[in-house]
Amino acid sequence: MTDIEIAQRARLLKINEIAEKIGLTEDEYEQYGKYKAKVELSVLEKYKDKKDGKLILVTAITPTPPGEGKSTVSVGLTQAFNKFGYNSIAALREPSLGPVFGIKGGATGGGYSQVVPMEDINLHFTGDLHAITAAHNLISACIDNHLKHGNELNIDITQITWKRVLDMNDRALRDIVIGMGGKANGIPRESSFQITVASEIMAILCLSNSIPDLKEKIGNIIFGYNGKGEPLKVKDLKIEGAAAALLKEAIKPNLVQTLENTPVFIHGGPFANIAHGCNSILATKMALKLSDYVVTEAGFAADLGAEKFLDIKVRKAGLNPNAIVIVATIRALKHHGGGSDLTLENMETLKAGMANLDKHIENMQKYGIPVVVAINKFITDTEKEIGFVKEHCEKAGVKTALCEIWEKGGEGGKELVDILIDETAEEGREYKPLYELDLGIKEKITKIAMEIYGAGNVEFSDKAGKTTVKLEKLGYGNLPVCISKTQKSLSDNPALLGRPEGFTVRINEIRISAGAGFIVAMAGEIIDMPGLPKKPAAELIDIDKDGKINGLF
Ligand code: ADP
Repeated sequence: MTDIEIAQRARLLKINEIAEKIGLTEDEYEQYGKYKAKVELSVLEKYKDKKDGKLILVTAITPTPPGEGKSTVSVGLTQAFNKFGYNSIAALREPSLGPVFGIKGGATGGGYSQVVPMEDINLHFTGDLHAITAAHNLISACIDNHLKHGNELNIDITQITWKRVLDMNDRALRDIVIGMGGKANGIPRESSFQITVASEIMAILCLSNSIPDLKEKIGNIIFGYNGKGEPLKVKDLKIEGAAAALLKEAIKPNLVQTLENTPVFIHGGPFANIAHGCNSILATKMALKLSDYVVTEAGFAADLGAEKFLDIKVRKAGLNPNAIVIVATIRALKHHGGGSDLTLENMETLKAGMANLDKHIENMQKYGIPVVVAINKFITDTEKEIGFVKEHCEKAGVKTALCEIWEKGGEGGKELVDILIDETAEEGREYKPLYELDLGIKEKITKIAMEIYGAGNVEFSDKAGKTTVKLEKLGYGNLPVCISKTQKSLSDNPALLGRPEGFTVRINEIRISAGAGFIVAMAGEIIDMPGLPKKPAAELIDIDKDGKINGLF
């Protein structure tokens, strides 16, 4: 059965029943139809003195293109906690339409570990991404309007960094000219589109702790520079209030359920390359107040999503994570060992590929909290292969669980639950970030590249070097850094599999997300408006006369 067929056979509870299960009163949530709700931020105030639950981050080894099952394991794990008698809520990211119609498909888990209603969550959901698109494009429209009406701020049209956004993979919009059509139609200039999840507004929504914080962060966005090279901010256009108003509902966490009727927040979904790749702080905090074990996920592999979760999100939210789960699959390990047919048993390539997992384990252990490996079992994995991975990790002192959650739902996650209950029992273990914020921008980037990626050295282009000096002068030197690089390798070269060492990371460009509060360092070519493949997933998706959707995966 396909994921969508499994999802459509599920018996969903009405969302008010899920809300009641986690102790929400009728006034504390608003229903979006029968199976979705938005939860009021007042819940955070109500429970401000209540002790937080334990926070478990799910991350992964360097993936193959379809993904190694982080979302699937996150959903399976929260189902498993609930099945075996513990309160758990998952706090996950919202899917973007781009990947849904492209190669990846939906992002609501798989098999018997999914979040439902998957069609709604993958297609429009509660409209958050559209609201973010509108808020972003309001700023774009006001910039061009300002140019048209006299340009009082002296905006340099060659230095406008704010683009437009659309939640779609549409490569034709990467480089465009706007304002064509004569005097009445704006000032002609080069511009471009990003996908909505790459918008700084998305990152801000996810890193905001309250509505005033959201508004302040939007006001602080640098949208470009004036003729003297000085930064111009959204608050100079006096529209941070309007942009925040457009996000009035989008800022509230969305409540849905798993196939096993357990609660899940799905809220916010920033890119894991030019942004930090984690769901919203508000949803994570709410889940921590409303349950004992919160399962959350960060995009791509541990060198990207988890590093940013631990060094950006956790720091900005003042969280203290209790454990990290690294998802590994036998197929990806064989891929890193140079394997081609990943469905056949091959101990040699498996052994060779373990180096990738070893590096991710070592990296995550730097943060001072327990690290556990979850083997996401595929039906093609053999006992011998599984036994080898377990033994290898346990020899290195890392607890390892076989997860059969794709095939069996929560039932298949017992081993992982038992390990996590044990590993998170100790109170007072303090997470420590990789770097201190008062290091220079270049030093912070170098530390991540050398310690996490395994680089031998880091080269900055002239332009990037100059930008770091300029940003430090402007007072942005103490922000965390968000490195944008390929997810296909620990290095910045997608062809280097396994555990590359001694390579040079090249930083071509440095950008500032002054509103979100981080510095973006671009390593290699990163596209912030993806394209569709030759045969897009859109060709498989359909709707019948009764409105039933099929072909989503
Ligand atoms: P990630 O979050 O790491 O990108 P997902 O959880 O979205 O990965 O899973 C990617 C795809 O792989 C989904 O279509 C899912 O159904 C499938 N998948 C995940 N785990 C398994 C498994 N154990 N067996 C078969 N397919 C799986």
